[in-house]
Parts: sequence; C-alpha cells; structure tokens
Amino acid sequence: MKVATALASAAIEPREARLLLAEACGFSEASVLAHPERELPAAAASGFAAMAARRRAGEPIAYILGRREFYGLMLAVSPAVLIPRPETELLVELALERRPSTVLDLGTGCGAIALAIKQVLPQARVVAVDASAAALVLAQRNAARHSLAIDLRHGLWFAPVAGERFDLIVGNPPYVAEGDPHLAQGDVRFEPRAALVAGPDGLESIRDIVGQAKNFLAPGGWLLLEHGLGQETAVRQLLASCGFDAIATWPDLAGIARVSGGRLKSD
Ligand code: GLN
Repeated sequence: MKVATALASAAIEPREARLLLAEACGFSEASVLAHPERELPAAAASGFAAMAARRRAGEPIAYILGRREFYGLMLAVSPAVLIPRPETELLVELALERRPSTVLDLGTGCGAIALAIKQVLPQARVVAVDASAAALVLAQRNAARHSLAIDLRHGLWFAPVAGERFDLIVGNPPYVAEGDPHLAQGDVRFEPRAALVAGPDGLESIRDIVGQAKNFLAPGGWLLLEHGLGQETAVRQLLASCGFDAIATWPDLAGIARVSGGRLKSD
C-alpha cells in the first residue's frame, strides 16, 4: 500500500494520520508528507491501520503514541495518568517565577510539573507525590529518561510528606464535577477518573489541599493550584479562609482563569 492510500483510508484527521503513520514506519512526519507515493512495508501498513482504528474509537493520540511533550520535555504517558495539557505550563511558569528552593508537586501523574520545574531549577529539591503507584512508575521512568532527580512518594496529598515544609506547593488536582458533560467527550473519556473528578462541585480535592497546606509550607511559602473554568472565586475564598494572603488568579493562554494561589501569611 502507498503512503497516500494509507493516509486517505484511515478516516481520521490528516495531521493525526501523518503522525501515526510516521510512528508506524519510523519515518519523520515531514518525510511522510514529502513522499506520498512511497510503498509501505506490510508491517508498517498493518501497524498504522491498528493505530488508526484506536484513534477512530476515540482513544487519545498521546495514549496511542505513549508520549506527550510538556514544557519541552518528551514524557511517557499511559492511561494510568492524565495527559499533560498546554495550559498547565502556566502553573510551571508561576512556580519558576518564585525561585523556590524546595517544591512539592501534589498528584504528579507522569511527573510533568515536577520535572519541568526541576529542569529549570536543578538545584531545587523537588518532591512529587501521587496516590497511584502506576503513575509513579511512569514518573520515575520520565525522571530517569531526562536525568532529573526528583523525589517520588506514594500516597494521598500530604500523607507522604508528614513533618516536611516547602517554599512552594503546586498541583493540578482533579477538579471536574461529577456528572460534568465534558467527561463524556474527547480525550477525557479515556483518562483516569481519579485524576479528573473531585466530588459534586469538583472542589473536593482542592478543599483538602488548601485546608492542609499551611502545615507543609515554610514561612511566606506559596500554594499554586490549577483549577477549572469558573472555580476561581471559590478557590480564592478557600485560600483566604485558610491563612493565605497575596491571593491572585492567573489566566491561561485562552484567557480562562486557570491557576489561583496565595502566600502563607507570616503572623
Ligand atoms: N483540564 C482537564 C479537563 O478539563 C481537567 C484536569 C484536572 O481535573 N486536573 O479536561
């Protein structure tokens, strides 16, 4: 089968078809594009057909390829973890601006946030926690692949860091409300529920984290959390009632209020 025929028969978006075909052949996307008349080896054609079928069934490209780039780092991903999103890079930027020496990443998943911070601040001590052992296996693999020494711990939120304090706590916890119609659309259908859904209003995990954070922050330390559309007022109120000042919200590139945070009051 020729490249052009395979691409046309895949019945998925052309850009995604090229990406999957390149993966199946071991060619670059540019070379797939440049040589539509090239004859595909049978194994590549059948590998591509299998990937295209998974994509037609809705499976995210990142899970089919087993990787996704985040903040310039190519990361291994699997259905055990949320797929890193471009808007989460805002959280990394805000974290880096604060030049922390010690960082805690809550719910690290494949390690995206923790590894991005460690890459830019190699002298920082970065601890990354996840309640999923399968997620930690991926995070460990990603840390090793990029030679970034982060400290991975298994447990729910602050459980694995009892008695420790950090300059900065960051997290992209689950924040989607149970029953949100968004859960039945696109990539999220394939992502782990535990990484997405947090109670009837989506704020259950954020409430847990904000409520406990002061016990794990150094004086003047910052808490920065990603949240969903329309949650900023609730998150800011929580921060205000849990001992934080300098409370602020930052928009992502789409203009959606995406991260809120504050500094622990030093009284
Ligand atoms: N941003 C994700 C979504 O809306 C949710 C991620 C999360 O819950 N942390 O699909």
